[in-house]
Amino acid sequence: MAISFPWFYGSKPLLLFHVSILLISGLSLGTGTGTGTVDYGSDEVFADVLRDEAVDRIHQLSKISDGDGYLERTFLSPASIRAANLILSWMQDAGLRTWVDPMGNVHGRTESVNPTAEALLIGSHLDTVIDAGMYDGTLGIICAISALKVLKNTGKLDELVRPVEVIAFSDEEGVRFQTTFLGSAAIAGILPESALKISDKNGVTVEEVLKENSFEATEESLTQVKYDPKSVWGYIELHIEQGPLLESLGYPLGVVKGIAGQTRLKVIVRGSQGHAGTVPMFMRQDPMAASAELIILLESLCKHPENFLTYDEKCGGFPKESLTGLVCTVGEISSWPSASNVIPGQVNFTIDLRAIDDMAREAIMLEFSNRAQQICNKRMVNCTIDRKHNAEAVKCDPLLSEQLKYAARSALGKMSTEAANYQHEIPVLMSGAGHDSMAMSHLTKIGMLFIRCRGGVSHSPDEFVLDDDVGAAGLALLKFLQNNMMISVT
Ligand SMILES: [Zn+2]
Repeated sequence: MAISFPWFYGSKPLLLFHVSILLISGLSLGTGTGTGTVDYGSDEVFADVLRDEAVDRIHQLSKISDGDGYLERTFLSPASIRAANLILSWMQDAGLRTWVDPMGNVHGRTESVNPTAEALLIGSHLDTVIDAGMYDGTLGIICAISALKVLKNTGKLDELVRPVEVIAFSDEEGVRFQTTFLGSAAIAGILPESALKISDKNGVTVEEVLKENSFEATEESLTQVKYDPKSVWGYIELHIEQGPLLESLGYPLGVVKGIAGQTRLKVIVRGSQGHAGTVPMFMRQDPMAASAELIILLESLCKHPENFLTYDEKCGGFPKESLTGLVCTVGEISSWPSASNVIPGQVNFTIDLRAIDDMAREAIMLEFSNRAQQICNKRMVNCTIDRKHNAEAVKCDPLLSEQLKYAARSALGKMSTEAANYQHEIPVLMSGAGHDSMAMSHLTKIGMLFIRCRGGVSHSPDEFVLDDDVGAAGLALLKFLQNNMMISVT
C-alpha cells in the first residue's frame, strides 16, 4: 500500500472543546412562520428592524437566483451581481458608506469618533450552493446590517469607538471554481495569484469572470483587496449552525469555540476482476468487500477512538476531549466496471475526516492507514490512500467569544416569555463546517455565533430558522456593539 501525504501540522491541539451534548428535550422547531414563541413586546428588542425587516430581506434575497425554481448564486453570477446590488442598497439604508472591491466583495462601513482606530469587521457570504437554503450566509450579512440600522435609527451610529464594517463575501461555497473562500481569502491576504487562473467547468477562469464584470483582475488589484492586519481589530460572523445541537438543547443561539480541521482522502483499492459466477469465493481478491471492511473500520475508529488510541497524556497520548466531535464520512464511492455480474477490478472512495484537534486528526489518519494496510494485505488487494485536501482547525478568540456569549445572554434575557428558559450558560460548540472565519483568522482574531436551525438541515431548500431566532441573532449583535463598541454603554 502506498500512502502519499503532503504532511503538515499547524496549530496546537484545542483540548478544551466541550459542548454539552445533554440532549435536553428542548424546542423542536415547527413548520410555521416562526413568530409567536417569544414576547417581542419590549421596545428594546427592535423587532421591526431586527426580526421583521431582516426576515423580509432574507426572503427577498432567496428569490434572487440563477436557477429556475431553486436557489443558486455562484461567484459573480448574474444573480450574485443582483444580490450584491440589493445588499449595497440595504447597507446605504443603514447609513453605511459602500463599495465593491476587485474580488466582488460588498462592503458597508461606518467610521467612528476615532477614525484611525482598528476596525471591527462583521461578515458572511452572499454566494450559495446549488438548490440552497435561504439562511446560509445571507442571515449573517442581513443581521449585521440590521444591527447597524438600529444604531442609526437611535442616533448612536456616530458614537462607535472604532469603525465597523459589514462585508458580504463573494465566494465561500466554492461551487463554481471548486475552491472555497475566494472573497474572504483575498481580504485576509492568503489568496494566491494563481487563483486567478482557476477554471470553472466551462473553461472560464476567475480572471475572465472578474473582467466580464469590469473588475481589473490583476495581481495589483488582488493586492488592493488585502487588508492590513494593523487596520483590523477583529472579525465576527453570525451563521446558522447547520447542525442539530442548538435545537436539541433548546437554545436559539450558541457561541462557537472553534472550527474543525479537515482532511479529505481518496482511497483506491485494486483487486482481481472476474466473473461473478465462476470465481470461487476463496480465490477472490475482491476490492468491493475490502472497501466495505475499510469503511467499517473507519466508522469504528471515529465512533470509538478510545478503543484504538492511547489516551495517556504522559506517554504522548491524547486526552479524550481532543477527539470529541470527531466525524468521518465516506460520501462518494465508485467501482469498475460496475456491473452486477462482475467482481470489480477497482473501487475508489473518498474519506472526509474532521476534528477540532489537528494532532488528534493526524493520529486517527495514521491509525486508519496502518490498520487499512493490514486489511488490504490479508485480502490480497492493493490499496493507496492519497490526501487531497488539508485544512487546519481554527480557534475562536476566547475574549471575543466571552463578549459574544454575554451579548447572546443579554439578547435572550430581553425576550421576556422565554427568558426563564435561558438562564443557563449559552451553549459553546464547535463548527464541523468551514466558514469565512477560517480565512479571516489569518488576518485577525475571530469570533462566531451560531443560530439554531430546524433539524440541523442546511444546504437544502428545507433549511429553516424561526423568525424570532433571526431577531434574537440581530439583537445579540446589537448588544455586542452596544457593550463593546460604544462610547457610552446603553
Ligand atoms: Zn455558509
